[in-house]
Amino acid sequence: MDLFEYQGKQYFARFGVPVSPGGIATTPDEVVELAEGLGYPVVVKAQVQVGGRGKAGGIKLAGDAQQARAHAASILGMDIRGHVVRRVWVEHASDIEREYYASFTLDRGAKDHLAMVSAKGGVEIEQVAADDPDAIVRLHIDPYVGFSQAQADQLVAEAELDQQARPEAAQVLLSLYRCFTEGDADLVEVNPLVLTTDGRVHALDAKVTLDDNAAFRHPEWEEYAATTELDERERRARQAGLQYVGLDGFVGIIANGAGLAMSTCDVVNQVGGRPANFLDIGGGASAEVMAGALEVISSDTSVRSIFINIFGGITRGEDIANGIVTALARVDIKVPMVVRLDGTNADQGREILRTVESEMVISSPNMMDAARRAVELAGGEK
Ligand code: GDP
Ligand code: MN
Repeated sequence: MDLFEYQGKQYFARFGVPVSPGGIATTPDEVVELAEGLGYPVVVKAQVQVGGRGKAGGIKLAGDAQQARAHAASILGMDIRGHVVRRVWVEHASDIEREYYASFTLDRGAKDHLAMVSAKGGVEIEQVAADDPDAIVRLHIDPYVGFSQAQADQLVAEAELDQQARPEAAQVLLSLYRCFTEGDADLVEVNPLVLTTDGRVHALDAKVTLDDNAAFRHPEWEEYAATTELDERERRARQAGLQYVGLDGFVGIIANGAGLAMSTCDVVNQVGGRPANFLDIGGGASAEVMAGALEVISSDTSVRSIFINIFGGITRGEDIANGIVTALARVDIKVPMVVRLDGTNADQGREILRTVESEMVISSPNMMDAARRAVELAGGEK
């Protein structure tokens, strides 16, 4: 789950990562009220979960109430790459001497935490990585050992941050690492981390991705879930209690079990298709869940065929088939569908599916063959 900048900053603050004081507003009046309290100049910042807000005109400095009001009016309602600005964060503006970059993330390949620090912040880090890869200093951290003061000192020195910024920057890194680990995040990124003209170091931006698998020990995350921006497909899927990830292909996928759903994505790719989503309906395949899954998938206009891949384990084939048949009666599906049913009592299940078979609903016992049919019916890559 991604946090908005203002939530990320509040999260940072809990772990002692320094941020500027500020507040959230939804109207120009509220912006002015906040600004008066904070003292000018202030910066008015669009709260959308997409980078490059500065370039898009979503971040503006205001020296007085009139400017604050005008900027608020222009930023609220603005569309930044498909994200409409509903809220702005207002904070006391910083006098920037230098902009750095700092992040901690998981390096799944190396099974380690990865710290990245650069003296070239403020611009997109992908750009720095492309133009001047040596300007980013990387350090792998063994999660069982943790991140030490010595490592923090080494990072800020190797990244060649300005001498005067190094001690505070190292402290920021230590706090940020605590935020990353104790805060159960998959990513904490500060770009820019600034050195101010009066020699202080603090986070001017915050990008935090929380590890959803840790949500059970963070009841306080519910407020983030409530404000999170999901695309329409993801919103519906969450409501239906499905494990869903939107992708950009054209074959809708429904499978039971995360492993099978992944393999299904793989075989669709293997036969020349592209999955429109990953969807795991879990162990069973009740009519309720299947109908929910079909609804989510058919609301996706890029889906040109659907591949249902179910392996009966504890849930028996006939129950699965009955679930599919009932769901089909409830959901209006406009694209062809291929069902592969295997596992416990698959024969009985396929017998039941026969009652709904048509040009639009095809049953195929073989996973590879079923994938091929689904891709063909979608008309292949366009
Ligand atoms: P992003 O464009 O979405 O990454 O948004 P950021 O929060 O990183 O802001 C973009 C840029 O706006 C920063 O790199 C700064 O140059 C500028 N900016 C943001 N806050 C302030 C501030 O308090 N004072 C000044 N002078 N510039 C700021
Ligand atoms: Mn930024």
